[in-house]
Formats: sequence, structure tokens, C-alpha cells
Amino acid sequence: MTSFFIIKPRILMNNFLQLKEIILNHNSFIISSHVNPDADAIGSELAFYYLLKKLNKNVRIINHSKTPYNLEFLDSENIIERYDEETHSNIFNEAEVFLLLDLNQAYRIVKMENGLRNFKGIKICIDHHQDPENIFDLIVGNTDYAATGEIIYDFIKQTNIVELDKNISLQLYAAIMTDTGSFRFERTSSKIHLLIAELLEYGINPKDIYDKIYDQFMFGRIKLLGRALSSIQLDETNKIAYMIVTQKMLEETNTCEDDVDGFVGYCLSIQNVTIGILFYELKDGLKISFRSKGNIPVNLLAKDFGGGGHINASGTRLFNISIDEILDKVILKAQQYLRMELK
Ligand code: 5GP
Ligand code: MN
Repeated sequence: MTSFFIIKPRILMNNFLQLKEIILNHNSFIISSHVNPDADAIGSELAFYYLLKKLNKNVRIINHSKTPYNLEFLDSENIIERYDEETHSNIFNEAEVFLLLDLNQAYRIVKMENGLRNFKGIKICIDHHQDPENIFDLIVGNTDYAATGEIIYDFIKQTNIVELDKNISLQLYAAIMTDTGSFRFERTSSKIHLLIAELLEYGINPKDIYDKIYDQFMFGRIKLLGRALSSIQLDETNKIAYMIVTQKMLEETNTCEDDVDGFVGYCLSIQNVTIGILFYELKDGLKISFRSKGNIPVNLLAKDFGGGGHINASGTRLFNISIDEILDKVILKAQQYLRMELK
């Protein structure tokens, strides 16, 4: 079995060719993505699944988390399995290739982390985040990409490994539409619009996809959003807005973690605010989501608290600590990054 060690990820045509080689020369694949998968994670996984199926490969998608209910329509064939130690105890010995999509740190697959670390086959990361962990045999993608779905599109187009079709286009569209904030974030290039135009030629319906992802929420989510919006506060600079979502709020609105997705964006919709922060209480700790405008690197802010992400969108999870214990420290740190931007 060939292994390629590429420590510095650079998207050379060569990387795509290496990926193609590996795919053509192997038969069994596991695909996985990060905890609390978003549409870029799910869409990229399913696009790759259909790509591999076209080549008659054995492939299974196994995730730590359940698919959020608003993304279930993407998995209309119920392909995605939820990781269960008993059912999947042998899976890591059986597959030849392990494909990690839309993440580059092993801990982000939670219960599958050890399986990945001890995996004897080829470990491939296809991703657009910074600072990949040095455990992969091949890394495909870089931070110039707006979405993992965009990398997969380029891979298909540049290598002609398979023909695009409606099935794959739907998945890639969902991945790219959501990771670009419906085509408005920084990396929404003319190339993105051109590739989207091509995806639309396969007969997918943007209005329908948007409606399913963003306009079919449970009533409780909207009530929860109301509670989260009421919790918003500004720091003394008026440039940092933060909101809090507690387990009690979830219980009272009959909602779950999936429902909180997208809330933090409201912090940035306030005039003059350049950093938005969501403190989300977990059963055994908390999750913090960071968003920023311009060149404030919230990926570094998240890193200060053990997390990571992109320059304008990042996050972290902390265990055995409460929101009250950490909130002031986080705001103080965020203010330091504000000052860096002002210079
Ligand atoms: P969100 O706030 O939407 O959950 O995450 C935004 C981005 O932050 C994600 O796309 C991911 O790149 C990053 N992120 C979120 N949580 C974590 C985390 O716990 N660790 C790391 N390394 N990155 C995270
Ligand atoms: Mn992504």
C-alpha cells in the first residue's frame, strides 16, 4: 500500500492526481466528518459517497453525531450511519482508506478519534481549515476554498474521475451555499458563482434547497432564538456582542443543539460590532462560537481556548467549566484581538 506524506498542504494538481490514484487503486472506504455536522460536512460526505459508488467502491459514511433534522433530506437514502462502538468495532480494520471531510483535527470526530489514529490504511483529509494535524497521509485542499464541497467540485472537474450528476450537484450546492452564508461571505468568488451555475444545470432547485435548510424549523427553534436574542449584551467597547444559550432554555423550548446553529450570526448584525460570541451550555461544559468581521482572526482567539476554525468563524468546546467561570476571560481576550485590528 502506498502512503504519501505531505505535511504542508498545498493544493497542487498533483494532490488531486494522488487522490485519484488512491481511489482507483483501493476498494473499501470509510467517510467521516466532524461532530455537529453542518451542510458542508454532510453534503461533502454524500457527494463523495456517490462519487465512489459510481466507481463501484465499497463505501460507508459513519459520523459521531446524528444528522441535523433540517439536513436529513440530503440523506434521502439513509446512507449515513451513526457511530456505535459495537456495530462498528471492526470497521477500522476492514477499510483500506479513511476519508475525513471538512475537518483536519482527529479530536473533532470524538468517539472515532482512536479508530482514526490507529487506522492502518491510508488516511486522507479533504478540508479548508487551517493547521491540519500531522497524522494524514494526504491532505487535499487549503484555506482559500470557501467550502469542502468546492474542493470536491474541483477534484471532479480537474481529474474527470466521474461525471457530475444531479445527485452530486445537490450535495455540492448545499455544501457551498451554506458555507458561503448563501453566497455573501469573504470567499464568495466569481468562480464560486460560475461553478454554482454549472451545478444548477443539473436541475437542482435553489429555492427548494434553501427552504429545506433554513425555512422549515420547528416552532421551538424560533422561540429559542427569541430567548437567545434577549440575552445579547455588548461589552464596554460596543464592538463585541455576546449571547448565551443554556440547557434550561433548550428544555423550555423543547429544542436541541442543532437548533442553535446560525444564532451567533445575529451578534454581527449589530452596527459597529465586529466580534460576535455565543456561549452555549453543554451538559458537561460549554461550546463557544466566535464570528468576526474584517481581519480580526477569531481562529486565533478560539485557539487560545483550545479550539480553532477560520479567520471569521471559529469555535471551541470546554469541559468541566461553566459559562460564568469563563465569560469574562473570553471577553477580555476578545478585546485584545479588537485592539490588534485597530492598529
Ligand atoms: P460553529 O461555531 O458554527 O460551530 O463553528 C464555526 C467553525 O469553527 C467551524 O467551521 C469549525 O471550523 C470551527 N470550530 C467549531 N468548533 C470547533 C472546535 O471545537 N475545535 C476546532 N478546532 N474548531 C472548531
Ligand atoms: Mn466547511
